[in-house]
Amino acid sequence: MNVLVINCGSSSLKYQLIDSESEKVLAKGLCERIGINASAIIHERAGGEKVKTEVDMPDHTAAVRIVIEKLTDESVGVIASLKEIGAVGHRVVHGGEKFSEATLITPEVIKEVESCNDLAPLHNPANLVGIRSCMEIMPGVPMVGVFDTAFHQTMPKKAYLYGIPYEYYEKYKIRRYGFHGTSHDYVSSRAAEILGKDRKDLKIIVCHLGNGASISAVDGGVCIDTSMGLTPLEGLIMGTRSGDIDPAIISFLADKEGITADDVVSILNKKSGVLGLSNGLSSDFRDLATASEDGNEQATTALHTYAYRVAKYIGAYTAAMGGVDIIAFTAGVGENNAAAREEIAGYLEYLGTSVDLEKNKIRGEEIILSKPEDKVTVMVVPTNEELAIARETVRLVQ
Ligand code: AMP
Repeated sequence: MNVLVINCGSSSLKYQLIDSESEKVLAKGLCERIGINASAIIHERAGGEKVKTEVDMPDHTAAVRIVIEKLTDESVGVIASLKEIGAVGHRVVHGGEKFSEATLITPEVIKEVESCNDLAPLHNPANLVGIRSCMEIMPGVPMVGVFDTAFHQTMPKKAYLYGIPYEYYEKYKIRRYGFHGTSHDYVSSRAAEILGKDRKDLKIIVCHLGNGASISAVDGGVCIDTSMGLTPLEGLIMGTRSGDIDPAIISFLADKEGITADDVVSILNKKSGVLGLSNGLSSDFRDLATASEDGNEQATTALHTYAYRVAKYIGAYTAAMGGVDIIAFTAGVGENNAAAREEIAGYLEYLGTSVDLEKNKIRGEEIILSKPEDKVTVMVVPTNEELAIARETVRLVQ
């Protein structure tokens, strides 16, 4: 079956058409600047070149139409007609407490997702627009929602509650949810598979280090803790997000700068992290590494502060699980950035592990970095959220 995987942002739409039997990506692409001027689609079919076409996309429905046009196009397409799409898998960011696994989309499910919009005001409405657009253009094709929060729903209360009055959890569902769940699930399963072991017998820490970054503790196949919270702002220092801070900073800063609490939260989301720490130099680790090599002290500090926070979380999650068998790195930085991995691993020798510096130079591949005799296996497992979404979609549709 061909599964169309859709990941909708407020002005973008990423897609992949995956053949679920071979698990090969037949075509993929990105619609950008939807609803803004100069919108364009960048489409690539397997073995072909990326082709960018400027095309008017006033809304997401128009974008889905263009995607279908490209997929069925005589020269750059890969299918003859819409009928060759067996199902659509949608990434949905927030499933609240309602969704602990992927779900077939029905009108009731759409209502339930809508009721989580408050928790992810930037993401969920966009995800829903994508779902509705696909339903309009592909009536009768089964749609599945795969939630970023679902994998973390196994966290126990002691991990997901904040130390604030309990009534706020009851009234507003303020608690830790966690994100990147599809990636944490995929990477922890794949890590166990690579070692020829059953995930149920392992304690795994997954470090999803991308522009957004989170870390999770997967014990016996289920998530028992993760670093992101009510929103993706909590936890690790990220590209532009602060991660954990003293919450009193919000009113302190609002007061000092004469701005609102919302303004401060926006600074914490968009101008903080390694971008903020490097004095606005860059949120991209490649730029920071180059600047650091050129002697830029702020860039060096940003990189050290970032790695230190990751190492602290690994220590915390080792304690939470009473040990660790595998530490897996994934996402942009985790898969490609040897310097970050080396620095983080430098903190982990007490666990009885090491990183082979030659192997650590390899980028973007499944690789075991520790020695076979080490107590803890450190490895790189490139994430594949689209494939995970396609698998879940097929599981539900069949
Ligand atoms: P992601 O959000 O998973 O796409 O990760 C994006 C981040 O990965 C970028 O901001 C880069 O800092 C980092 N990244 C990607 N490729 C490399 C690379 N070759 N070396 C270092 N960092 C990289």
